[in-house]
Amino acid sequence: MRIGMGYDVHKLVPDRDLILGGVKIPYELGLLGHSDADCLTHAIMDSLLGAAAKGDIGKHFPDTDERYKGADSIELLKHVKDIIDKENYIIGNIDATIIAQKPKMAPHIEDMRRVISDALNIDINRVNIKATTEEGLGFTGEGLGITCQSICLLETVDNYAYQDVMNESGSVCSSCSGCPIKRSV
Ligand code: ZN
Repeated sequence: MRIGMGYDVHKLVPDRDLILGGVKIPYELGLLGHSDADCLTHAIMDSLLGAAAKGDIGKHFPDTDERYKGADSIELLKHVKDIIDKENYIIGNIDATIIAQKPKMAPHIEDMRRVISDALNIDINRVNIKATTEEGLGFTGEGLGITCQSICLLETVDNYAYQDVMNESGSVCSSCSGCPIKRSV
């Protein structure tokens, strides 16, 4: 079992979209960055790369590279999943926190979980996203920027034992007991 953490900050500016976890959130300001500046997805990618000892997103997707100008961070997340897959790791879970004074994140959290879990092809219950404020303190509190943090666990495939498990419809299917890959039921 391996643990990884990710941390990212982007500045809030006018005339930019606010995209977090692949979800466009209506707001008068957006995050500034070379890519789409999806702070949450960046933190999640860094936690996954960190757990796999594969560096960080700056190494894989440098902001000096024109290919990543305006890049959709969810597509970059899929690349990170490929890196994790090649190393034979399975994502145990991801727990991420958005730190923003405004706007309200609660109405968008479920959409973010769905987009992130779909991109990683894992069950939604392996992805938790929370949001908090810093009570008006510091740069997030003053609404100057947004911070995101993520922590994740990776497991090696050797840890998984094959056995019969009950699927959601109540019938027994023969599959990996801990496999996070979505089963069609
Ligand atoms: Zn970033």
